[in-house]
Amino acid sequence: MSNEEIKTNFIHDIIDADLASGKRTQIVTRFPPEPNGYLHIGHAKAICLDFGTAEKYNGKCHLRFDDTNPEAEDEEYVQAIQDDIKWLGFDWGENLFWASNYFDQMYSYAVELIKKGKAYVCELSQEAFKDYRGIPTEPGKEPPGRQNTIEENLALFEKMKNGEFEDGACVLRARIDMASPNLHLRDPALYRIKRAHHHNTGDTWCIYPMYDFAHCIEDSIEGVTHSMCTLEFEVHRPLYDWILQTLEIFQPQQIEFSRLNLTYTVMSKRKLLELVNEKLVDGWDDPRMPTLCGMRRRGFTAAAIRNFCGILGATKVESISEIELFESIVRDDLNETSPRAMAVLDPIKVVLENYPEDQTETFELPNHPKKEELGTRTVPFSRELFIERNDYIDVPPNNKYKGFFVGREVRLRGAYLATCTAVEKDADGNVVFIACTYDPKTKGGSAPDGRKVKGTIHWVSAKHAVDAEIRSYDRLFTEENPLADKEKDFKEFIDPQSLEISTAKIEPVLAQAVPSSRFQFERIGYFCADLDHTPEAPVYNRTLTLRAPRK
Ligand code: ATP
Ligand code: MG
Repeated sequence: MSNEEIKTNFIHDIIDADLASGKRTQIVTRFPPEPNGYLHIGHAKAICLDFGTAEKYNGKCHLRFDDTNPEAEDEEYVQAIQDDIKWLGFDWGENLFWASNYFDQMYSYAVELIKKGKAYVCELSQEAFKDYRGIPTEPGKEPPGRQNTIEENLALFEKMKNGEFEDGACVLRARIDMASPNLHLRDPALYRIKRAHHHNTGDTWCIYPMYDFAHCIEDSIEGVTHSMCTLEFEVHRPLYDWILQTLEIFQPQQIEFSRLNLTYTVMSKRKLLELVNEKLVDGWDDPRMPTLCGMRRRGFTAAAIRNFCGILGATKVESISEIELFESIVRDDLNETSPRAMAVLDPIKVVLENYPEDQTETFELPNHPKKEELGTRTVPFSRELFIERNDYIDVPPNNKYKGFFVGREVRLRGAYLATCTAVEKDADGNVVFIACTYDPKTKGGSAPDGRKVKGTIHWVSAKHAVDAEIRSYDRLFTEENPLADKEKDFKEFIDPQSLEISTAKIEPVLAQAVPSSRFQFERIGYFCADLDHTPEAPVYNRTLTLRAPRK
């Protein structure tokens, strides 16, 4: 995996030092998704970093569902997240964990903090507390409850747990420092009352731990040595450390890196959910979504995603990466790995007038110009063919033009040389068909007398062609950063032309392909058989055009 390995440098430097000093002997990381949405390519960066680092150091990476917020979570997401991680090429083995399995332990730790005089029950709502918390440059005010005795707090917390208070009536707070310049250390909430059914613990609990309290304890229980997360958690790190130090339990090291952002898309689960709920896209796996399931359906490869994350590396610099870079990595991968086939997206008919009417022959064409291991396929050929409309022109614009005009000889890829003799048009001047004669002595596409032709074009035998629905996808948004203009709703920037549907003529092998197979349609682009695809009703998604469009 060398070219895909994340160039973490600074994170690996920290780990190297910990191993050298003997502070750590085995490396344990974790990827902790909240099952409240599908994974996107930003998560892929975290996954590559968490699993990749564990791989590099022969350690372990846990998959831990951070299911401490029952309202937003759903079983549907739990399965999808596992499928996506496996598709990316990573495996947690036996190390699948649930934050909710630690609820008893977390409760005991909360009781322990109270017993140490380090936590108290406070009746202020989150809103009312803001007033007490104050602003960084001035000390806050002492919240009510801060002077409760340990016994009072133990009794109140027990009542919270037993459901003797309304939702939101009080919280358990850490007793840290109401004057700290770091607002996260001004007596943050640790537990809240919320009557919500939990997918794992059912109705056992009516109090749930807050993220900051739960996450460090989960890491500690699992013996995570290096807990990587995104930069917004940097200001939470003193609280992470405070909780574990006060409880005197195993202390992982939290390390922050910058989020992955991409141009022409949005990356937050909440915003992606909005697109799904408002039916602005066709579900989480719409091929225009930056979700892993959307990218998979589009035809992007796991290898390209891993490579992209590897090239970006992990730093502390906030930035937006260019989608063009990602697309070029996808093209490089698909160019190497996808079999070629022929499809005509905007067909006109060619009639080979000297080819016997009822004759059919087949050609055995290589699936890849350079990779013999990709094998060959059988392509039928007959008197009538389809070619692209723009491979015929009345008058060539310049001498670079590769297609037919009357008098021009062209190579029909892998079959014969043929010369255009006439064009048949309807009353409106549209081409009905072009007439050609083929040279039977050029079977396979080369002339025994060594004469050269300027162009090679793709074709599909009309008699054997199958109609396919083509879904041509483009970037979902017209703006590089749809979130830049705070005055506007990002959904206003959706490109109505980001999906265009048409019908193409495809060669038989493309109809027979199984869903998710990827191909390069020669001279056109990269395409992937959709999940809806069947041999009777073929459907192909355009992954990318063959080359990046010129700016
Ligand atoms: P979102 O902001 O999209 O809702 P999240 O951070 O709430 O994402 P989690 O399920 O909590 O989603 O994320 C799991 C892990 O993935 C976390 O460690 C988080 O830091 C990381 N992660 C999420 N988004 C990105 C991103 N854009 N780039 C890198 N890592 C990310
Ligand atoms: Mg989150």
